[in-house]
Formats: sequence, structure tokens, C-alpha cells
Amino acid sequence: MSSIERALASVHSRIDAAARAAGRDPASVQLLAVSKTFPAEVVAEAVKCGQFAFGENYAQEGVAKIAAVRALIAPGSALTWHFIGPIQSNKTRLIAEHFDWVQTVDRLNVAQRLSQQRPAALGDLQICIQVNISGEASKHGVEPADLAPLAREVSGLARLKLRGLMAIPEPDMSPERSRAQLRAMRELQDDLARQGFALDTLSMGMSDDLEAAIAEGATLVRVGRAIFGDRARKLPAA
Ligand SMILES: *Cc1c(COP(=O)(O)O)cnc(C)c1O
Repeated sequence: MSSIERALASVHSRIDAAARAAGRDPASVQLLAVSKTFPAEVVAEAVKCGQFAFGENYAQEGVAKIAAVRALIAPGSALTWHFIGPIQSNKTRLIAEHFDWVQTVDRLNVAQRLSQQRPAALGDLQICIQVNISGEASKHGVEPADLAPLAREVSGLARLKLRGLMAIPEPDMSPERSRAQLRAMRELQDDLARQGFALDTLSMGMSDDLEAAIAEGATLVRVGRAIFGDRARKLPAA
């Protein structure tokens, strides 16, 4: 068994245990493997172990890796690539042309650009709106008060399909504070459902907090280090 195979099995058993503990079907939680900074060969190894959804934070790195991985794996393996990093306006075309999902939409002009730049032949780009759930601690994500109007605008844009919400809770806080932020996300998602939005994705939970996120209703957990190990390259704060 390779180390990635072992790590994936271990993350899957954490997900299963957390889902069961919360009275949820483990199949209701999808694992996104966050492969930022790791080379295509490592991603191809994960594909061999049955992992098909990957997350990348940087547009150029991601696009290069998507092509490199494709060349390494069996033809016809359908991978799903999620963009999960902060979006610079001048990168929207690259993202719209190469990714399947964008989880970090937090302002209308970025959504409009993605809509205009998505090639029709690729089908709809799947969208999550990133919410700033940690207040002052983050400059990314829409403020909760501005979420519903943004969701309404995004829903009206061609070639985008709004699927749900995404959050990155503040790092290094108490378990109670962390739980409260995760719960607040679930409540925002429920509010939107009451307003008639049909959303099926709540993206939250990473290597260190996936159990808490699943207990609070996450349907997609984004896991990097627990699968691939520590990242050698130091990243700017998200
Ligand atoms: C890096 C990253 C992750 C994965 O974090 P780990 O702690 O490595 O599991 C998840 N989500 C986002 C947005 C990230 O940037």
C-alpha cells in the first residue's frame, strides 16, 4: 500500500465515522483532495487509488497540473477540478476555461466574468459562494448580510450553476468558536433554502476540523495535508 493509499483510506474512515456519529449517510460527504503545491505525479497516484476530485488554489499552477495529470492517467478517467483559491480578476478566463467548479466566488464582477468567459461547450461552471464567516480575521468571502443578494445575482448568470456555500473558518481558534462558525454556515445555507434556492453543497472542513464540519452539515470536505503530507512551499494566507 502506498502512503497516499493509506492516507486516503484513513481520511475516508474519519469521514465515515464522523458522518455516522452525526446520524448522516457517509455517502453524503464528498472528499475533495487539495493538491496545491504537490506535483502531477502525486495526483496521478491518488487517482490510481480511486480519488477523482481535486482542489487547486492558484490558476496557473492548477491549469498546468490539470494537463500534466491528464497525460499520466488512463484516458477517459473523469476528474473534477475545483478552484478554491482567492480569485484575481485577470485569472477568471483561465479558471473558466479549465476548472469544473469554482468555490471562491465572493463578488458579482468575478461571477460575471466567469459567466462571460465560460466556454459553452464545457457546460455550466459549478459555483459555491465563499462566505466570510470569521469577520475581521479574513478579507475573503462575502459578508453574511450580503450573501442572499449575491446568490440571487449569481443564480441569474448564464453558464454558472450555483451549488452552495464555502467557508474557511479562522485558523487556530477554540473548538467552541470553530463549531459556532461552522454552525453559522449551515444556518446561512438553511436561510437560502427557505428563500427558494436549491443548493446541495456546503463546503467546509479541512484536515484538522473535518469531523466538526461534518457534524455541522458539510457535504464536501477539502483535505490537503492529511492526504498528501505537509506542504513544503509556504503559502500566503488564504
Ligand atoms: C489548503 C486548503 C485546504 C486544505 O487544507 P489542509 O489543512 O491541508 O487540509 C482546504 N481549503 C482551502 C481553501 C485551502 O486553501
